[in-house]
Amino acid sequence: METQIIARAHGWLSRAKKYIEEGEVVAFHTETVYGLGANAFNDDAVLKIFALKGRPADNPLIVHVHRDYEISRLIDGEPPYAAALRAAFLPGPLTMVYPSTGKVSQYVSCGLPTLAIRVPSSPTAQEFLREVDLPIAAPSANLSKHVSPVTARHVYDDFNGKIPLILDGGACMGGIESTVLDCTGEVPQILRGGLVTREMIASVAGDCGVYVRKEGEQPKSPGMAYKHYSPRCKTAYCRSAEEANALYDGEAEQGGRPCILAESGLISALGGREALDLGGTGEEMARRLYALLRSAEKSATLLIGVEPKEQEGVMVGVLNRLRRAFGVDA
Ligand code: AMP
Ligand code: MG
Repeated sequence: METQIIARAHGWLSRAKKYIEEGEVVAFHTETVYGLGANAFNDDAVLKIFALKGRPADNPLIVHVHRDYEISRLIDGEPPYAAALRAAFLPGPLTMVYPSTGKVSQYVSCGLPTLAIRVPSSPTAQEFLREVDLPIAAPSANLSKHVSPVTARHVYDDFNGKIPLILDGGACMGGIESTVLDCTGEVPQILRGGLVTREMIASVAGDCGVYVRKEGEQPKSPGMAYKHYSPRCKTAYCRSAEEANALYDGEAEQGGRPCILAESGLISALGGREALDLGGTGEEMARRLYALLRSAEKSATLLIGVEPKEQEGVMVGVLNRLRRAFGVDA
């Protein structure tokens, strides 16, 4: 199969629609990362996503719909706070988990009684979803455990020859996956941090919890149990520029090609060593992280990450991805 990357062109959406209706899998741009989408009503198409990614069979998928899609077809009621959150943040990088009506394929939620729904704001995603007018089950368009894709080229690198079409909407400006919010309880609870922060949710819903898995407990969001976002080179993680410099010099002495990934404020403390600038704000770090991890794995023998100082707001989600990429929390 030849994989085509198509940016806005005459007939691009009708081609995508045809593939989706035939039970194929199509990759598409969103404002967070690229998604690997299939018709959520079609068992075989949904199973194809798991097979293509090598995704564990107990890691459920998020269903994507356009902004006017009637979600009451898919969910069994919602608390008042959830309606307020939808009004405040959708379309946007917030996934909401609801009790499911069980109408979509059983493989979407991997047997859970809930369904995760997202309304992406990317114009490419919106136009695609409107054209198909179906709920589209879509995880990130990367091989399982690899770094999430933030350009069409990243998707191509993982799936060339395996999917027919990538809808290219340019680079993803959000850069990390959506916030996943459990909306089945009295108070919303964050299962995965992202660009819609706890503070933003609490300002609308009045309160917002953050799920922390207890030792030995099955996680509420099964994806959080897996190793994720890993670059394909050796990695090391540290807390200071001094530590990073020492690791760097050790690798260089052995003839390796080390590289340090650090926030903007630390770059001058690296003494001219090969470095990737993660950025100065949480939003910037979210936007740059995956592209930098993907470029580092192509050239570095050892990638050394330095923990950023800021830990609040958007950084909660960024740190989660960063630490997991470096195998610190996994
Ligand atoms: P991905 O699409 O690869 O970014 O992963 C989707 C994330 O959403 C994973 O962490 C899943 O575990 C989570 N997720 C999807 N559906 C549900 C659900 N019904 N309940 C809880 N978490 C979910
Ligand atoms: Mg993913």
